[in-house]
Amino acid sequence: MPKTSPIHTEFDGIEALRAALRAREITALELADSALAAAQASSLNAFLHIDPELTRQQARAADAALAAGNATALCGIPIAHKDLFVTQGWRTTAGSKMLANYTSPYDAAVVHRLTQAGAVSIGKLNCDEFAMGSGNENSAFGPVKNPWNPDFVPGGSSGGSAAAVAAGLVVAATGTDTGGSVRQPAALCGVSGIKPTYGTVSRFGMVAFGSSLDQAGPIARHAKDLLELLDVMSGFDERDSTSLETCDGVANAPGRIRADFNAALQQQTGRLPLAGLRIGVPKEFFNAGLAGDVAQAIEAALQVFESLGAKRVAISLPRTELSIPAYYVIAPAEASSNLQRYDGVRYGHRAAQYGDLAEMTSRSRSEGFGPEVLRRIMVGTYVLSHGYYDAYYLQAQRVRRMIANDFQQAFAQHCDVIMGPVTPTVAKPIGVNRDDPTADWLADIYTLGISLAGLPAMSIPCGLGGAAGDLPIGLQIIGSYFKEGQLLAIADRFQQTTDWHQRKPRQQ
Ligand code: GLN
Repeated sequence: MPKTSPIHTEFDGIEALRAALRAREITALELADSALAAAQASSLNAFLHIDPELTRQQARAADAALAAGNATALCGIPIAHKDLFVTQGWRTTAGSKMLANYTSPYDAAVVHRLTQAGAVSIGKLNCDEFAMGSGNENSAFGPVKNPWNPDFVPGGSSGGSAAAVAAGLVVAATGTDTGGSVRQPAALCGVSGIKPTYGTVSRFGMVAFGSSLDQAGPIARHAKDLLELLDVMSGFDERDSTSLETCDGVANAPGRIRADFNAALQQQTGRLPLAGLRIGVPKEFFNAGLAGDVAQAIEAALQVFESLGAKRVAISLPRTELSIPAYYVIAPAEASSNLQRYDGVRYGHRAAQYGDLAEMTSRSRSEGFGPEVLRRIMVGTYVLSHGYYDAYYLQAQRVRRMIANDFQQAFAQHCDVIMGPVTPTVAKPIGVNRDDPTADWLADIYTLGISLAGLPAMSIPCGLGGAAGDLPIGLQIIGSYFKEGQLLAIADRFQQTTDWHQRKPRQQ
């Protein structure tokens, strides 16, 4: 593997990089060029589309702003976008053959906001097809390799995003999380990631999977860097019908999360930084399916939090197991509806040979979609069909409400945050469940309920495990609605005491 470390890897996070850029010790163009070189030399298959000229244009604009003294928050910082966000200029494939040659006439809201803040995009990142998966093996453009060990998956569906950050190709990346796709790859690649409260970040220009679940979130090494990105990404957007105007009475606007982050840091009541914090630990998250190495790392992390003054409270989320069937009814139902637009006429792939219109659509769809996407469309169509709607779809919606109530009750009565594992095991070898497609679905057990409830949650690195002790383990921190700032502050405290987030894979 070529050893071309980008310049930004010499700096410890966005704040340090910003200071160096503003002091003109480095230029945005130098940063961009070194990141581009590393991305092009990488053998991880993390990037799907790189266009050096577009990147360099953004970097030159950043340098001009820096020279003129009107640089914005992320001016010159090298990032990259999951290929689920549409981008003007760069291709957008959603990891699918269906959109292999698609270029959007506009930028997704998230991309636009980050570009406005001065971030420089190095390109588009590989992902599971239409974000369906948890290993990045469902991409039509091949699997992404885990930088910690290239024989293992990086997690999914934002696998390219997590791998690119873990390998140091970019400082941060965007991802999307429908049932765990920011938290899970972050955990398996040893980096941090946050999925904010549903409705706080605009879905405009994000290729739709399960619209009532889809939410964008950033991936980076440090919790503090997540704050830098998330605060820019979030905010009301009238082009997304589920975008929130206010969060608990406060305007949903950039700056909200940083204000909460600062307030949380100042809330220190005792001698210890997290004195008084009640951490709910759900017993259902420590079931028989949880691997010993993961359980041990989570226990060690909880002890660190206790040493910082937090208290552990045993709680129960009794419907944790039901989150799997509920999610795998609701998400495919919404996907089957969202993916109707790929009909061979309006977007994407059209079959070369067909008889009539119906055949054109069916051939285009069966050629353009991969097996997992077809499976979801079939499940979704089935559960929405007359005669099954009540038995499956409505029932799943009822379970969804009960799951959300369980979380709300825990926060109202027992704890301030909830902690537990993100995944039952460390990363699995590439190809392992190829003949058993639903086996991966079961591994989503600790992330799906949070998505069904629309809560914010993050993953931070907390250990290493696996046979060789070289595969990352993530700790999940779940908050009540709009508590992103508090979650990030708690994670930041942990990262000031531990160095798991600073560990890097040997081969980069
Ligand atoms: N693994 C889950 C799925 O396959 C979640 C994916 C996601 O969050 N995009 O649906």
